[in-house]
Amino acid sequence: MADLGLSTSSSNTDTVSVANEIIRGEPPVDSNRGDLESLEPPNPKKMRINEPSIESICCLEDRLTGILCCTVCLDLPTVSMFQCMNGHLMCAGCHAHLIADSRLRDENATCPNCRCDIRENSCVRNLAVEKALSELPTDCIFCQTKFPRNQIEAHQNSVCKERISSCQYEKIGCSWKGPFHELSAHEAECAHPKKPGSELMEYITAINAKNHNELTLFRNIFDLLSFQRIAQSDPQLKPYRTDDFVTKLYYESARFSAFGCQWVMKATISEEVKDPTMVSERNINYSLILKSRSSNPLDLHYLVLRGPHSNYKLKPVIYRHEFTPDTAEAPSRRLHVTDSIECNRILSHRVINLRILMFQVSKD
Ligand SMILES: [Zn+2]
Ligand SMILES: [Zn+2]
Ligand SMILES: [Zn+2]
Ligand SMILES: [Zn+2]
Repeated sequence: MADLGLSTSSSNTDTVSVANEIIRGEPPVDSNRGDLESLEPPNPKKMRINEPSIESICCLEDRLTGILCCTVCLDLPTVSMFQCMNGHLMCAGCHAHLIADSRLRDENATCPNCRCDIRENSCVRNLAVEKALSELPTDCIFCQTKFPRNQIEAHQNSVCKERISSCQYEKIGCSWKGPFHELSAHEAECAHPKKPGSELMEYITAINAKNHNELTLFRNIFDLLSFQRIAQSDPQLKPYRTDDFVTKLYYESARFSAFGCQWVMKATISEEVKDPTMVSERNINYSLILKSRSSNPLDLHYLVLRGPHSNYKLKPVIYRHEFTPDTAEAPSRRLHVTDSIECNRILSHRVINLRILMFQVSKD
């Protein structure tokens, strides 16, 4: 331990003298002087001045990772990187999450580092950081070789010899999966293409059943599109707060007309929990409300899609409800977003843009 202390102090003076000599344009003092100093481990600082070592390059990677990571999740994003007006970095996911959180709490979103305002338009993307990140190396998940992050996807998808591949006879039931370099050997002796048609039918039926639900949904949508009375609207749902003791965020559209009546759409966030800011898994429910007093019941199918200029993914689901003066509000329905991340992305925008298609069931 005492040795360590000594060598540190002597190495400091060494570095200074080496640096001085480099400035004067003279070669550094030969370390092979045969005295005690030559027995000491090589001075890492001295080596960095002469030529970069492998350790110092790896170390540079680590240091850059620490500098270029998102200041919220400490991850290196594969998507856009934003910065607050003081330059603090946050990945697109965290940025959206912070804004969604603040909206739920009815507060202004602030940078977690400097507390400056981070509304949608006060943050800008940092392209230099995004490009620098894309050059940082990362390991291939199959062969563990290092590649720049901007090449890793192409390598893992189509170049890596260790990538997990499926047999080309997967569609007729072969469940073989293995490294790419074993694929051709497997396919040469795969038993599936030699099986009789009657046996292959089993597999094909199972696969068909899997696709059946989706196909039915799309067929139903096409059927609805042939209805005589169809209305379409692009309501913009704006954020409001309930006047409960603990106020809650909800969204509501302006009135829009369809079938000669006035309608409104409302949306709530994670309505099954008391405080949606406390849960990480969030969801959005919406309901369609008839605002006009209609004497005739309106039997409708309706379908909600993402609105124009929005890029989130919604799974279409058809609902049906009969609107009468007593049942003017359709039951709350889940907005089928892919996951909670997508949900936060929707909440991070100031308004929720939806498109609703309504199909009136004719009474004949
Ligand atoms: Zn992040
Ligand atoms: Zn900041
Ligand atoms: Zn690989
Ligand atoms: Zn096979």
